[in-house]
Amino acid sequence: MRKTFVCIVCPVGCPVTVDMAGGEIGAISGLLCKKGEDFVRQEAISPVRLLFTTIPIDGAKDIDVLPVRSGGPLPKHMLSEAMDEMAKIKVRAPVKIGDIIVRDFMGHGVNIISSRTVKSRGVD
Ligand code: SF4
Repeated sequence: MRKTFVCIVCPVGCPVTVDMAGGEIGAISGLLCKKGEDFVRQEAISPVRLLFTTIPIDGAKDIDVLPVRSGGPLPKHMLSEAMDEMAKIKVRAPVKIGDIIVRDFMGHGVNIISSRTVKSRGVD
C-alpha cells in the first residue's frame, strides 16, 4: 500500500510518498531533509496533531474567549471529538499563560493549557 501526504514540519510542504507493507514502513520518497522523517514515520503509522482552539472565559478584562492548546499531540482521528469536548468547557478569569485548563484531556495524558494571560475585570 502506498500513502501520500504533505510534510507539515516546515513551510516548504514537501509531498511525501510512503510505501507500506504489512503495517511496516518501507521506502519513503519526497522528503527534502532529515527533519521531516520523524513526522513522516509518525504520520504513516498513527498521525497526531496539536489542538488549538478558544473557549469562553467569564469575568475577563478585555476578552470573552481564551486561546488554549494541547500540551502535546493528540491522535488526529479524535480531533473532531476533542473539539466537541472543548465546546463544553468554560473558565473564569484570571488565567495565566501555561495554566492547566483540563488535566489528562479525554484520558490521553495530555493537558489543555492556556495560551494567554488574562486578568480579571476591574484589575489593572
Ligand atoms: S521534508 Fe524537510 S523541507 Fe520538506 S516540508 Fe518536511 S521539514 Fe520541510
